[in-house]
Amino acid sequence: MSDTVHGQSLSAVTGLVGSGEPILCHWCNRAYKPRQRNQAFCCPKCSDDAYNSAHPVRRSGIQTRLVLDPPSEPIQPLDVGPTTAQVQAAQAKQTVKVLGMLQEAGTRGVSTGDFLEAHIGRFSARIGELRAVKWRIRGVRESEHAWRFVLEGRS
Ligand SMILES: [Zn+2]
Repeated sequence: MSDTVHGQSLSAVTGLVGSGEPILCHWCNRAYKPRQRNQAFCCPKCSDDAYNSAHPVRRSGIQTRLVLDPPSEPIQPLDVGPTTAQVQAAQAKQTVKVLGMLQEAGTRGVSTGDFLEAHIGRFSARIGELRAVKWRIRGVRESEHAWRFVLEGRS
């Protein structure tokens, strides 16, 4: 063991701490005059180093991961939902389904409840799309929130 710590000789250090009762730092072995009872380390850095040394598993685990893991892939934006094309395709599918229901129902028509049971979301928008491509669909209001839609043909 060297008697040189922190670049200073032990005697020089002990000279600095004066006439108290210098003790040796538990970590670096430097002699120092404790400012508090039961002080084990000369400085906060030694205290930290000693603590980290006493907890090697967790510490080395973190360091191993930081140092040894392969560089992470560039972060891709998360898929937070369908793309515009997927939405349009799904809507088109629903629009076709709505048309099929209307055709099947004939003059009986399809009610709001029928669409909901068939899990057609926003069926009024789908009917609007059918009307936009010249399907004639008559809406009959049955109650405050219920409609019945009857396909009458194509113009
Ligand atoms: Zn120390």
